[in-house]
Amino acid sequence: SEDSLAINVQGLSKHFGARKAVDGLTFSVPCGVIAGFIGPNGAGKTTTIRMLLGLIRPTEGTATVLGKGISHPHMYLPHIGGLIESPAFYPTLSGRKNLEVLAHLGGHPLQRVKQVLEFVGLNDRGKDLVRSYSLGMKQRLGVAMALLPDPELLILDEPANGLDPLGIIQLRDQLRTLRDQGKTILLSSHLLGELEQVSDWLVMLNQGKAVFSGPARTLVEHRGALIVEAADT
Ligand code: ATP
Repeated sequence: SEDSLAINVQGLSKHFGARKAVDGLTFSVPCGVIAGFIGPNGAGKTTTIRMLLGLIRPTEGTATVLGKGISHPHMYLPHIGGLIESPAFYPTLSGRKNLEVLAHLGGHPLQRVKQVLEFVGLNDRGKDLVRSYSLGMKQRLGVAMALLPDPELLILDEPANGLDPLGIIQLRDQLRTLRDQGKTILLSSHLLGELEQVSDWLVMLNQGKAVFSGPARTLVEHRGALIVEAADT
């Protein structure tokens, strides 16, 4: 039913002049899954995520996120945590201080800062200035930032960007832990291999349209069939 959908996108489009970044996109994500949002560079993932977070308005179509229309500024509602591309931090403050400022602004308990820093594995470096952070550490801080409100739904744009192989394994473990707590996660990547093993659900995007949306195992079956077909010819 509608209630069991965390995200429901119907015919969503975003045009930038003549450029159709998102072009009649339809897909849904059930509650309680890790959903991989896959597509090549330029497929429209970032534009879609920005619409789902209420940062930009669609040209056409509708979407609901946790049952609410996307005209609401979701990013600042406590039940959705967003990680956008290159989030802005205060470079001359420590990672911990950055989170403390956000916790203060968002009205979240200060003890959340310690919890989220620990969760993303940044505790040791929490006191260091953000300008000394690698891209991977900034990504971890971005995930920590998204987790501050303890959201029901996390929408993460390329969270694996800049992570080393160990960091990617740790990110997958973190996402599974969050999923097992009952949260829903949508995360984008241009690499299927990066998301395939962690995703329960997959949405594949090409040129602003969904070319596949469903349980991850059905993609694997579909793929198997494609390989058999190719071998037959
Ligand atoms: P990437 O992984 O490179 O971010 P993506 O799948 O997230 O790719 P988008 O960033 O959503 O794709 O971009 C989709 C298309 O829309 C691209 O061709 C991009 O150049 C174009 N586009 C995105 N934002 C704008 C904008 N503000 N003005 C004009 N064109 C834009």
